[in-house]
Amino acid sequence: MAEIDWDTLREHALSAMQRAYAPYSKFPVGAAALVDDGRIVSGCNVENASYGLGLCAECALVSSLAMTGGGHLVAFTCVDGNGETLMPCGRCRQLLFEHSAPGMLLNTVSGIKTIDEVIPDAFGPSTLAAFAPTDPANETTCEACQ
Ligand SMILES: [Zn+2]
Repeated sequence: MAEIDWDTLREHALSAMQRAYAPYSKFPVGAAALVDDGRIVSGCNVENASYGLGLCAECALVSSLAMTGGGHLVAFTCVDGNGETLMPCGRCRQLLFEHSAPGMLLNTVSGIKTIDEVIPDAFGPSTLAAFAPTDPANETTCEACQ
């Protein structure tokens, strides 16, 4: 894996944080990630008067990932309004896991960690694939046919 330019990622996260819409919590957040094709995607938190509907910065980040061509996240960082490193909340670790490249790195409050370290034994696409129920639409017999 290529060397991660954490300083550049942090600059993108700081820039995103400055666009946050956080009139209720006054807690702006910016996140940025390196994609496996070399793009950098970012996002800020967007709150709502209906407090529970607030979107974390990672929500905007993964939306940007999809909108700008998809791919998988290689490295991630997140900052608060003081520019301090911030840990993604539990929900956002799940969001990031879904779009992570194997061995994705995160800059965390306790150093660089892998995605598997911040969300061990994660539920994800492989969980669903392993279950793979039989699709009733593909059944060749039904009560009416018998
Ligand atoms: Zn979150």
